[in-house]
Amino acid sequence: MMRKRNSIFHFYFLATVFALFQKSAETDYILDRVVNLDEDDATDFRRIRCPLCDWQPCSSSRWYCGDCDYPEYFYGACGTLWNTFSTRGMCPGCAHQWHWTSCLRCEGWSPHENWYASDAD
Ligand SMILES: [Zn+2]
Ligand SMILES: [Zn+2]
Repeated sequence: MMRKRNSIFHFYFLATVFALFQKSAETDYILDRVVNLDEDDATDFRRIRCPLCDWQPCSSSRWYCGDCDYPEYFYGACGTLWNTFSTRGMCPGCAHQWHWTSCLRCEGWSPHENWYASDAD
């Protein structure tokens, strides 16, 4: 009876290790993609502006992955500095998908998707 319980525990341990490995492999893939996006300069910053004050970021603008209360409520920040529009809001350091983006000029927060100007604008 004891032996059987031990082997079930061992199986769960292996499953956990495997899940961790899967996660790091996924992160490596995301980092590769970030480098490619930077090289291609695929981001069209002319179509991106702050919904609150119309400030337009450029390729040298940088955002900081830091712990945040309102409105993101994210407390596992990794400290990476990167251009959030080259990754559609995903941090290349910890793969956190930022749903909110702060403006570097007016310091207001807006949902990341709202920064992209539509054809109607
Ligand atoms: Zn991060
Ligand atoms: Zn602004």
